[in-house]
Amino acid sequence: MENQNPEESNRIIIPKLFYDSLNDAPFTNCLMCNRHLLMNPTTYLIEKAYRKNPVNGKKEIIFEYAICWNCISKFTESYSKKSMANITEYFNDNIVRRERSELMKIPEAWNKPDFFLSKCSIKGTPVKELDEYQVLGYFYGRFMTLDSPPFLFSGAVSDEILSILSEQTLDELDDFTGKYLTGPPEFSDFLRAPKRKPVILL
Ligand SMILES: [Zn+2]
Repeated sequence: MENQNPEESNRIIIPKLFYDSLNDAPFTNCLMCNRHLLMNPTTYLIEKAYRKNPVNGKKEIIFEYAICWNCISKFTESYSKKSMANITEYFNDNIVRRERSELMKIPEAWNKPDFFLSKCSIKGTPVKELDEYQVLGYFYGRFMTLDSPPFLFSGAVSDEILSILSEQTLDELDDFTGKYLTGPPEFSDFLRAPKRKPVILL
């Protein structure tokens, strides 16, 4: 994906699912550099992690953030070569193929982000059946770009991704989590290694 304004035909206004849950409005600032994402548009990533509360079955947010293109680039440079190669291979083997084959069957899915977020993009498990999952989408200003469609991955996939990352990269992600994703105190244990981590991907 390139850092440029997406084609108008390939973008939609930001779905509420990707709003900042604190104020039920679009994210305004990059988590790392504080750049204003709406007034000073650039490509950015939003990631949210959810879990089903084991007591009442309600969906809860573990963490959420928006990060601008520049910061993502800088951050992923810190990933080890081995981790990057493994991540690329993992997604090439899984997500791309599945999405493409699904999309060929349902071409109108291109402007329906729900299509991509109704089940695990890799395992195909319906979201209703997942106790934990993460969603990622790519944005430009007030729009979601569908040049790189959003995706959802289950806790099982998150575990698989973490298992192919090098120790060095896991340390980088732990540093990021500790510095930026403190979140509500009740989830602090949940975020601590080796539990759920953000997966910052271009
Ligand atoms: Zn930034």
